Amino acid sequence: MTFDELQLHDSLLRAVKAEGYTTPTPIQTKAIPHALLGKDVLGVAQTGTGKTAAFALPILQRLSAKAPANGARPVRCLVLTPTRELAGQVGESFATYGKHLPLRHAVIFGGVGQTPQVETLKRGVDVLVATPGRLLDLMEQGFVSLRSLEVFVLDEADRMLDMGFIHDVRKVIKALPLKRQTLFFSATMPPEIVDLSRSILTDPIRVEV
Ligand code: AMP
Repeated sequence: MTFDELQLHDSLLRAVKAEGYTTPTPIQTKAIPHALLGKDVLGVAQTGTGKTAAFALPILQRLSAKAPANGARPVRCLVLTPTRELAGQVGESFATYGKHLPLRHAVIFGGVGQTPQVETLKRGVDVLVATPGRLLDLMEQGFVSLRSLEVFVLDEADRMLDMGFIHDVRKVIKALPLKRQTLFFSATMPPEIVDLSRSILTDPIRVEV
């Protein structure tokens, strides 16, 4: 399988090729076609497998296919990650793969002042990458609305559990529209994570690498 066969737009292919990628990784080959069709995906995959591009590429393609009406810029995609380091890496990936597209992303996490993050949110972002605690803080203060969300990604779900964030994750999920695409990634599938995946995924494609 080549990247060209994955039916990705030329702007994404150019970005991927500029990174030096020649062949999609197994998780990319298996997940991208379903994610492009709007299906929910359960990806059982470790870091290092190329899972970030497996969700970022189809998301960028779907979001760029249709712009929201009347120039509004609501958050259309939320990626929840357990750590600020991972949030930063995921944000970098959206920037890299989306460099030829007119989409904006922002990364928000705790442990730093919120003002610059709030300023960025006020300018409007299409893709928001966040850790759960800071996201809830900003939602409670009215700085983030997820009413127009189209795609939700839960990255490293098992680490969310290990780090004690699962309650916060559930709280965020309660604020999401029911009609959405959900992409769920976890390296392992302990019982709590199986339960969570069952409660938030609709008829998912399971991809294991
Ligand atoms: P991830 O599992 O998403 O953390 O990605 C691990 C690393 O693999 C990152 O440094 C990516 O830039 C790189 N990568 C992702 N997809 C590919 C690919 N198809 N070919 C080569 N490298 C890749």
